[in-house]
Amino acid sequence: MDESCFYCTKNKPLGDLMVEICKLSVSTVYLFKEQTYAGRCNVVLNSHTGNLFDLSPNNLHAFIDDVANTANAINIIFSPDKINYGAYSDKMQHLHMHIVPKYKDGQNWGDTFEMNPQKTYLSDDEYIKLAGKIKEKLK
Ligand SMILES: [Zn+2]
Repeated sequence: MDESCFYCTKNKPLGDLMVEICKLSVSTVYLFKEQTYAGRCNVVLNSHTGNLFDLSPNNLHAFIDDVANTANAINIIFSPDKINYGAYSDKMQHLHMHIVPKYKDGQNWGDTFEMNPQKTYLSDDEYIKLAGKIKEKLK
């Protein structure tokens, strides 16, 4: 637990950016409020750990399984042309994987996704409905 990390504290800055969908085996899945890449989610490890190589083999496997499970759910619902996976966090050493559906006629096809385009937002009701739909497709 790191008090300066919003994934640990789950404080307002986190809530401003994303909506919790559910917990999986070793992570929590969030729906990004910014939905330029329709279906974009974030799979956040439940412990404050910075790197894949810091995880035990069992936790590493479980985390990647949570990532694949989430990507599969997004793929079923949105049928993107490709899903991009992104783990950056230079300034926030808490392992999380961006699950970013990409579309041939959509933003940044063939290029790196933009972290926060600040273009497309849904209503609170739409976030709840979409989060429910994704949760249904998670194994
Ligand atoms: Zn943290």
